[in-house]
Amino acid sequence: MTDFSDLMLDVAKVRNDFPILDREVHGKPLVYLDNAATCQTPRQVIEVFDDYYGRYNANIHRGLHTLSDEATAAFERTRDKVRAFINAREIREIIFTRGTTEAINLVANAWGRANLKAGDEVLISQLEHHSNIVPWQLLAAEIGFTIKVIPVDERGVLDQDAYRDLFTERTRLVAVNHVSNAFGTVNPISDMARVAHAHDALILVDGAQAAPHEQIDVVAMDADFYAFSGHKVYGPTGIGVLYGKAELLSAMPPWQGGGEMIKTVSFEAGSTFADIPHKFEAGTPAIAEVIALGAALDWVAGIGLPLIRAWEHRLTEHATRELSRIDGLRILGTAPGKAAVMSFVVDGAHSQDIGLLIDQLGVAIRTGHHCAQPLLSHFGVDATCRASFAAYNTPEEIDIFVESLERVIGMVR
Ligand code: PLP
Repeated sequence: MTDFSDLMLDVAKVRNDFPILDREVHGKPLVYLDNAATCQTPRQVIEVFDDYYGRYNANIHRGLHTLSDEATAAFERTRDKVRAFINAREIREIIFTRGTTEAINLVANAWGRANLKAGDEVLISQLEHHSNIVPWQLLAAEIGFTIKVIPVDERGVLDQDAYRDLFTERTRLVAVNHVSNAFGTVNPISDMARVAHAHDALILVDGAQAAPHEQIDVVAMDADFYAFSGHKVYGPTGIGVLYGKAELLSAMPPWQGGGEMIKTVSFEAGSTFADIPHKFEAGTPAIAEVIALGAALDWVAGIGLPLIRAWEHRLTEHATRELSRIDGLRILGTAPGKAAVMSFVVDGAHSQDIGLLIDQLGVAIRTGHHCAQPLLSHFGVDATCRASFAAYNTPEEIDIFVESLERVIGMVR
């Protein structure tokens, strides 16, 4: 049995913050292990919506009245919380987007269109989520640059020698995830950034899966761009972040036009644009969601990412040991120090059948390609089951999951 007693995480207290964890599914207590897709929100985040819409709902930045001032102040306070969360130097380097996907599309469309030419090269990795593949493919089809893929080994670890060998004088950008959503691999971003910069290329980091598990320091890792989503870090859906170095963002053209992002608009002289970050925040943003993201980051800080990470690592060790006992079960993604993601396939049992049947027992896991089709097909599968853990999961839940899985496998084999 894995020992958790040395860790100072009071998981019962943590769980108390999450009302959804008290519900039942199909008459069974919910065991929620789909955190890599979306994790649950603590009541401190949920309460923001009541408070905002009940007390100070107003459009931000332009208003001179009290409600608008209060909303603007709360919104901009979150920008500073995000800055601190990723250790960025300046608040103007923090842009709010709808999520990681929109943040990457912003870089592709604003930086990519202005800086990439036919014949250039962009490096992505075999581990990428579709949201860090497809925007580059769409742009490559228009512009004519080449996408090259950093390979993985059998554990799901990126081959760093092959990575170095992929660079040429035409390499302009490396776009890579910090943590793989399908396998949990944690990539050595600082080292990869050093190599990219030595070749005068930029590095964009998809941090969607890192934000809930890893302490992020964009300055120490020297990321040029870093993206993450609120709903994977105990916050709401519909909100995410793009960090970019101020000099890069300032030099980029806007990608969406509208209110908020201009300095002046004239039929005769055209438009001039606001300074960053507003240049990239056209239209009314998701105000309550931004403020709620701030509450989520406060909640994470209240426990501390190092403790969350240690707890989840212990859960992952425990799950690895228990799952390895199941006959015919193969774990995909065995990178050392991987994040709390367990992907697996079972001989003679379709992942989808497992997912549907285990839900009947109250256990929520994800099945399918996890938006990482190139990775899965490289490993010869088109779907896996994926259980992913958060700070509120317990060893007892892992045991229920494994017992339920054994029952389900018995039913379908
Ligand atoms: N990148 C990774 C590694 C992810 O896991 C996800 C979501 O699963 C995304 C990007 C896309 O995030 P969103 O759907 O919040 O934009």
